[in-house]
Amino acid sequence: EAKMYYESDADLNLLNGKTIAILGYGSQGHAHALNLRDSGVRVIVAQREGGANYKKAVEDGWKPVSVAEAVKQADWVHILLPDEVQKKVWDEDVLPNIKKNAILSFSHGFNIRYKRISPNADLDVIMIAPKGPGHLVRSQYEEGKGVPCLIAVEQNASGKAKELALAYAKGIGGTRGGVLETTFTEETETDLFGEQAVLCGGLVELINSGFETLVAAGYQPEIAYFECCHEVKLIVDLIFQGGIGRMNYSISDTAEYGEYVTGKRIITDETRKEMKAVLADIQSGKFADNWIKENETGRPNFKKSREEIANRLIENVGARLRSKMSWAKK
Ligand code: NDP
Ligand code: MG
Ligand code: MG
Repeated sequence: EAKMYYESDADLNLLNGKTIAILGYGSQGHAHALNLRDSGVRVIVAQREGGANYKKAVEDGWKPVSVAEAVKQADWVHILLPDEVQKKVWDEDVLPNIKKNAILSFSHGFNIRYKRISPNADLDVIMIAPKGPGHLVRSQYEEGKGVPCLIAVEQNASGKAKELALAYAKGIGGTRGGVLETTFTEETETDLFGEQAVLCGGLVELINSGFETLVAAGYQPEIAYFECCHEVKLIVDLIFQGGIGRMNYSISDTAEYGEYVTGKRIITDETRKEMKAVLADIQSGKFADNWIKENETGRPNFKKSREEIANRLIENVGARLRSKMSWAKK
């Protein structure tokens, strides 16, 4: 059984006297910076000028500086830039300016796992990865709760790397929700697999395939949308609260019987075989290489896919229906 760490396992005093530079004020960056500040930690924010995130940082009371400037002043550098730009910023702005014996941290292991960034041996290299979107990391903290976090230690130059990771996790509210230790390799590979096979790739195609099957058979697209897309959230909420048992208790016995006879006709041995192949591409670095190449060539496939999905019927029908639902965000 994996050990969980909570409030009393972490010591915020380890952050006393340290200046933490948060690089990037996006989804995760703003949440880490604000939560740490509210926890009494000294923070500097690096955010380039020009965009909405810069404006937000100023509104939130920061004096944003460049990455190079923030790194020069910091005892601890936490990189919350998009994974695909981290190597360039590391090479140009972080590596030349980072203090000796500093702490370097991430919220996702991609650049360490795939050796895009190879930090010097004098640095502690750790991960504090909230298992939730940045806006929830902030709102939960404000409500006195916290999004659970993963921590990992890649380099332990100080001999205190794990305790430091726990302290940071406490500073952003993570120990209120529970902290689990992992490795950069495990976090990176499972994160990529989860989002590709299940959460994003698998789910989007499952929803759309069900929707298109009904529409092609002549059913009204609005009905198909409710059945195959809208209700996903209601079902997932039940699973989130009490597992698959809770969902099965709540749905009709007819739905439950249908689940038992049909689930394995949809997710077949062939699908499982393909899941293994997807995992193999993640483990070998093939997926990472493709994604890096995609970025170096101006993202042609990425843009094409985004456009193809935006033009799907389900997106048009959904937008129309959601505009009448009071609870759906515009
Ligand atoms: P965002 O895209 O929300 O924010 C990225 C930030 O980096 C923005 O402040 C952006 O500034 C800045 N930035 C982008 N490109 C550059 C550049 N070339 N030079 C300087 N600054 C740049 O990122 P996320 O918060 O989603 O992700 C950050 C990290 O957190 C990643 O490692 C990700 O894997 C991890 N993570 C993210 C989660 C999430 O919920 N989103 C969940 C768990 C981990 P600008 O506004 O000017 O573009
Ligand atoms: Mg991810
Ligand atoms: Mg139904």
